[in-house]
Amino acid sequence: QSFENFKLNKQLLTAIAEAGYTKPTPIQEQAIPLALSGHDLLGIAQTGTGKTAAYLLPILFKLKYSQGVHPRALILAPTRELVMQISEEVTRFGKYTGLRSVSLYGGIGPKSQIEALQAGVDLIVSTPGRFLDIYAKGEVFTRDLKTMVMDEADKMLDMGFMPQIRSILEVIPVKRQNLLLSATFNARVEKLSEEFLEFPERIEI
Ligand code: AMP
Repeated sequence: QSFENFKLNKQLLTAIAEAGYTKPTPIQEQAIPLALSGHDLLGIAQTGTGKTAAYLLPILFKLKYSQGVHPRALILAPTRELVMQISEEVTRFGKYTGLRSVSLYGGIGPKSQIEALQAGVDLIVSTPGRFLDIYAKGEVFTRDLKTMVMDEADKMLDMGFMPQIRSILEVIPVKRQNLLLSATFNARVEKLSEEFLEFPERIEI
């Protein structure tokens, strides 16, 4: 397998090559075609498996070919560190796409984050709490969101983010693609996936 076999474009393939990725990892091999075809996904995969690129590459591809000035994809992650890590990958792979993204997290004032949103973004990477804070200020336009990712869902549950996640689900469009990543699978992750995903394809690495 090679990345060239996926239905991605030159902008992404160039960035992938520059990142030094020569071959998709097992989760990428399985998840990328399914995510590109629009399926909801439940991915049980730990950090180090290449799970980030597995959901990010299809999202960047779709964003590139969907029109709009408002955010069209939302990636939720439990911690500021993970949000920053995901954002680095967005920058790396999005380099030639012209897509705009913002990372939202606490620990700093919201001003620069709000300014980035006002300038216009295609993709938001956020912790649940900061997303809701900024949404409450009326600074996030959610109506065009078409894809939502929950990364490290088990950790989000452990950290007690379920109420925030439910609040977020209430303010984003019902018709959307959902991708859920979790390092572990247990009863709570199963319940969340039943609530959040529609006819998901399940991938376990
Ligand atoms: P992740 O599981 O997404 O946290 O990724 C773990 C590490 O693997 C990161 O440093 C990635 O840059 C790297 N990585 C992801 N996919 C590939 C790939 N196909 N080839 C080489 N390295 C990769």
